[in-house]
Amino acid sequence: MAFTLNSFPVVYKAKFENDGWKGEFVEKPHKTPQEEAQMPGAEREALVESRNFYSDLPLVNYSTQYGNSCFEGLKAFPQKDGGLAIFRPEQNAARFARSMKGLYMPAFPEGDFVQAVAETVKKNAALGFCVGYDAQWEKDSFASALSVYIRPFTFSEAGFTPEVSREPWVFVVTMPMSAYFSSENANAVVTDRIRATPKGTGWIKTASNYVISTLAKHEARQQGFTECIFLDAANRRFVEEGSSCNIFFYLKSGELVSPALGDTVLPGITRASIVELARDRGINVCEREISIEEALGETAECFVCGTAAGVTPIGSLSHNGKKTAFNDGKTGDVTAQVRDTLKGIQYGTVPDAKGWMLKVL
Ligand SMILES: *Cc1c(COP(=O)(O)O)cnc(C)c1O
Repeated sequence: MAFTLNSFPVVYKAKFENDGWKGEFVEKPHKTPQEEAQMPGAEREALVESRNFYSDLPLVNYSTQYGNSCFEGLKAFPQKDGGLAIFRPEQNAARFARSMKGLYMPAFPEGDFVQAVAETVKKNAALGFCVGYDAQWEKDSFASALSVYIRPFTFSEAGFTPEVSREPWVFVVTMPMSAYFSSENANAVVTDRIRATPKGTGWIKTASNYVISTLAKHEARQQGFTECIFLDAANRRFVEEGSSCNIFFYLKSGELVSPALGDTVLPGITRASIVELARDRGINVCEREISIEEALGETAECFVCGTAAGVTPIGSLSHNGKKTAFNDGKTGDVTAQVRDTLKGIQYGTVPDAKGWMLKVL
């Protein structure tokens, strides 16, 4: 599948040097969005593609050679009443700082993170690069809705011997995004690959974790599945998460279970938000171990969640060649409630009682 990374032109770029961070905004080549839309295909692609190149970065470094880098993913949502708001950016700021410390990098200050993310979105919007609210999205519970995806990440200084990065760059790039999973409900398979090990980096949003995830997801797709689920490394028995998203099981008993966070599960902000929202609704939410046997035998509804995935129902889960369907493969009521509440808060159709949205426009 040909895919051009369609980044918006303004990028935030900071470097750690002499014990401090120095940031700036860089404006990559662009025309107005309307002019770009009217350009001949190849010409437009070349222009958009040129925004992905940076001639002043060291090619050989600890990120490109040894996977020493981390990233974040968050979104700005067009609001029903106009404007644009970012979902819980201070949470991503805190996790980014934890990830960087976990990789022995100097942490990027949380306040600077929130400001850089908000300003990057604003500056692109000022150039006309943004997405606007469309009331049509309400008809399919925002399944077809667009958003602005924000990707902050680190990039190491030059280096060849295996080392940690001590003077990284931090970049923030943004791009328009549609739904992550194309079909409504995912058919998942339990992979026998191991994503994260105790004492490893599973809790860090590091690039290197994604090597295994991308292999497992590629294999799942080749077998006709849309998602893969990882079990824990120590027992090969307890469910941990999806390829790049956390997981919930709504059991027949009425309990909503998400695997407890240890050092092998990525602490998703969507996951934490759903735990809160479900508790507010009076649902009995438990963060605990859940074995694959219990999950397959006791589940009424299952869904995965994350910034990119949103709330995606898992229609079936296959394990050792046996396929178990949940809720006849259809979206369950609890899943739909959770999804609609979260999407409603994000797109401004449900009151933001918790103050989760940072308005930037
Ligand atoms: C980013 C990520 C998630 C989801 O986190 P959110 O903050 O909800 O986007 C889940 N699992 C992994 C492995 C991740 O990298």
